[in-house]
Amino acid sequence: MNLRAGAPPIKGFIETSFVDWRGAVAAVLFLPGCDLACPFCHNYTLASDPDSYLTLELEAVLARLAEFAGWIDGVVVSGGEPTLHPGLDELLDRIKAAGFKTKLDTNGLKPGALQDLCRRGLVDMVAMDVKAPLEPLAYARAAGKAVDIAALAESIAFLIRGGAAHEFRSTIWPAWHGERELKAMGQALEGARAWTLQAMNPQNAWRPQALGEGAPYSQEDIARLQRELADPVLRAPHGQDA
Ligand code: SF4
Repeated sequence: MNLRAGAPPIKGFIETSFVDWRGAVAAVLFLPGCDLACPFCHNYTLASDPDSYLTLELEAVLARLAEFAGWIDGVVVSGGEPTLHPGLDELLDRIKAAGFKTKLDTNGLKPGALQDLCRRGLVDMVAMDVKAPLEPLAYARAAGKAVDIAALAESIAFLIRGGAAHEFRSTIWPAWHGERELKAMGQALEGARAWTLQAMNPQNAWRPQALGEGAPYSQEDIARLQRELADPVLRAPHGQDA
């Protein structure tokens, strides 16, 4: 395999998680840095101050993962934003060579890297955050920065066209994600395999003041919005897997 750079630094390692890969037990690796500044981010020190974390040795992480062979279904590579690292392919390749499936968590702003990794068979599952309707102002508010909307659209289209097994995830806040916004997001995600809504929680958020006043969606609200607005845009489950 043609690898381009050294594997990126690993700044965090959860040995077993039941919540980071739907239907699977997975280890989770966290990579530093992010090109966004989402006000609700709960991993913000990884994005804003990655040097405050120790770097874990890849060989030590792989040795520990080997002890979990047969116990975990795969390894999630999360962040931060993993696709910022040119050596991500090497990390994924090492994980796959060790016998694990891989899942990539991404904000979708690097469609070229995403497509390259998927086409080379280095990623078995992609979870992409969709933070707002694909409108510049709405997205900038949710992402904390202006973003390349066309890049997001390209990543979404690649995944929906069958580029990889995937799940879209949206963390929603009532003042930002009402019915109009959720319908607009749903239009952009028409035909996806999975789109999961979750309530934005201002506790432990990076910049909770940016969220303004108000309470998060309740779990009952989330269940209703999932049922009424998110699930209907999904591709029928009898289709072929990506
Ligand atoms: S994309 Fe947003 S939520 Fe994800 S790590 Fe970056 S700042 Fe945090």
